[in-house]
Amino acid sequence: MSQDADDGTAGSADDHDFAPLPIALLPWHESACDKLTAAVASKRLSHGLLLQGPAGVGKERFASALAAALFCTARGERLEACGECAECHLSKAGTHPDLHWLRIPEDKKSIGVDQVRDVCEQLSMTSMRRGYRVAVIAPAEKMTPSAQNALLKTLEEPAPRTVLVLVTARPSALLPTLRSRCQRIEVARPETASALRWLAAALGGAPPPRLLAVAGGSPLKALALAPNFAALEEQMAGLLEALLDGRIEVTRAAADMQGAGLPTRLDWLEAWLVAAVQAATGVTNETPLTFPTGSLLQRAAAELNITRAFQVLDRLREARRLLEGPVSASLVVETLLLELRTAATAR
Ligand SMILES: [Zn+2]
Repeated sequence: MSQDADDGTAGSADDHDFAPLPIALLPWHESACDKLTAAVASKRLSHGLLLQGPAGVGKERFASALAAALFCTARGERLEACGECAECHLSKAGTHPDLHWLRIPEDKKSIGVDQVRDVCEQLSMTSMRRGYRVAVIAPAEKMTPSAQNALLKTLEEPAPRTVLVLVTARPSALLPTLRSRCQRIEVARPETASALRWLAAALGGAPPPRLLAVAGGSPLKALALAPNFAALEEQMAGLLEALLDGRIEVTRAAADMQGAGLPTRLDWLEAWLVAAVQAATGVTNETPLTFPTGSLLQRAAAELNITRAFQVLDRLREARRLLEGPVSASLVVETLLLELRTAATAR
């Protein structure tokens, strides 16, 4: 699931060391596919593609589908793999010799220059199957600056029928020179209604009310969250109630939030804040607060000081960024919860 959720945790430099991704497009991939179909039809497909979009929309899956479509020998005008030809069988098995995945090695935190050089060398060789050669780099923003420069050289003198796909949720973290060499393809979040439809089909039933909101509207992230969502709801609702009620201290609440699940718990908190702000400002609310009427969390949301709530939201997004660096997680989370409690009791 991790590869589908674009969370970048899957990691090996080896091409075939992870489960192959499906080669079928997801319903909300259509417009990105249209754009690429037009580029191929007019023979203007760029050698470098910057596949960007938020986490959980299936960017890596789109890259897998795109590569399969480029290899496919039986596709129609649309850039979509037939799923049946010999090339498609290789793609589905994850063993197509002309597709190279470049990921963060398990024992590293970034994609290094040697990995990039290796893959560029392989791309410069003749295709094993006389067609396109494709390399997918995910997450591209995890390339070191020298790796990005090495890639830039390949993009400046590309071999024919080679495509480099850079997958990223944070394009601004890439070198501007590299970005400007690539054609930008946006993989957007679906509309809420269609995301919910897809999610219901994938889960075999209606998803829990706040699941999609906590996943930031990203269906694959929601699907990955689903098995543990009830536990997350229970824990976070309990924790927030106890904090706002004064039953537990900020330090204790912060300690309970930390660990491997911290990013998800921050997502939960953000969804609650966003819903509260939307309800208070009368913005059309696609993700209603469905805590029981009269419950502490519903009352607290209604009574939240809006100016301060916006500040807490800013702080929360900043906290996420800070937590990627070498900071004390306790300090970051405590500061955040302190501001949240103040916002909830400020009037
Ligand atoms: Zn095919």
